[in-house]
Amino acid sequence: MNALPTLLAALDDARLDFRTRAALERHQERLAHDHLRWVAVHSPAVAARFRAAGLPLSRWRELPPTDKTGMLATFDTLNTVGVTLERALEVARHADTTRDFTPTLPGPRGPVTVGLSTGTSGTQGVFLVGPDEQARWAGTVLRHLLPGGLRGLTRRHRVAFFLRADSPLYRSVQGGRLGLRFFDLLRPVPDLAHDLSAYRPTLIVGPPSVLRAVQRAGASVQGQRVISVAEVLEPDDAAHLSAWGEVVQVYQATEGLLALPCPHGHLHLNEAHVHFDLEPLDGGEPLGDGLHRPVITDLRRRTQPFIRHRLNDALRLHPDPCPCGQAARRVHSIAGRQDDALHLPGAAGETVTVWPDFLRGALASVPGLNEYHAEQTGPAALTLHLDPHDPATHALALHAVHAALLRTPADPERLTLTTRPLDPPAPGTKRRRVTRTWNPT
Ligand SMILES: [Zn+2]
Repeated sequence: MNALPTLLAALDDARLDFRTRAALERHQERLAHDHLRWVAVHSPAVAARFRAAGLPLSRWRELPPTDKTGMLATFDTLNTVGVTLERALEVARHADTTRDFTPTLPGPRGPVTVGLSTGTSGTQGVFLVGPDEQARWAGTVLRHLLPGGLRGLTRRHRVAFFLRADSPLYRSVQGGRLGLRFFDLLRPVPDLAHDLSAYRPTLIVGPPSVLRAVQRAGASVQGQRVISVAEVLEPDDAAHLSAWGEVVQVYQATEGLLALPCPHGHLHLNEAHVHFDLEPLDGGEPLGDGLHRPVITDLRRRTQPFIRHRLNDALRLHPDPCPCGQAARRVHSIAGRQDDALHLPGAAGETVTVWPDFLRGALASVPGLNEYHAEQTGPAALTLHLDPHDPATHALALHAVHAALLRTPADPERLTLTTRPLDPPAPGTKRRRVTRTWNPT
């Protein structure tokens, strides 16, 4: 891919600096006006949703949301490049097993990249990205993540990308002064540590659990910036990784680039390109500091439109404006996937929801605990997988979880808490420290 479209996109992106909500919303409405007209003509599935709801395009904010299941069910008529779900899955799985990530499918506006979301629980998502969208993605990433912004391009950068799949999407950030090296997560950690030290990267991009493992294996890096992707960045990881440079996080999902850090290191929703409707969870106030579930409308992606698409994530907004002055909303933290929220017994036998970040906070403070996984395996059963699993960490972890649950409506006395040794993670899998493998029927 050519570097020029990427640079043009980065320059265009730098223009999109909104200081007031009103200006940002006017910009979104302008994008939505043109985007939805195009999408309704080219995507029968989106047009059908508007028809079924009896809504004109101008009332897109009221369209009943869809989700991953709905997206996959209508995939063939949703995408605007004539690719069937069957064909997309075939291409993506072939790329994954052969580790040859160049295959693309021909599309009317250029080659289309096919990707799978990293398989966590449930169904895998499939996404299609066109060449112009790749340039836009790379430009936005460049503008936000290079130290010093676009001026950062006056210096040479070596970027180390730790990714499960060497997606062409990530490869597109390639220019004269920008070197990129891909580190395959399926290789042994000591080898990765050795190669990373030898590469002397200025920017390191990867899932925090992997970067920490590589760091523990002895990698020595004097970079400028560490960019956490794919997993939630937690304070303990951020503290250790800061030895390699300033640590920032990107919130990216299959569904798009959702939030990016500002120069002050705070995460802002990517509202210049994506419209967010935020549904309060747990009966909280709309746009308050409680949990919200995003329903996104991507105002740019045409190859595979995301219009009023509900995500599985829960996030907390920051109540105060950011010192950087951006009007885009500030994310306080990503609480976790809704699928992973625990359903625990309350004092009166009712079921209460406990969010993953709550348990993560409790276990992060256990002295001597290197890594853990908390798993709800039944209606009243929670297993703590601990590393190391010795009498001291066992007692401290049980105490920390018990004490934390006393601050929630859950009743720890009604819960069976057990511990066991943590198995080493399978290479290339995404770390989720809190999961629920039991499903209420
Ligand atoms: Zn900011």
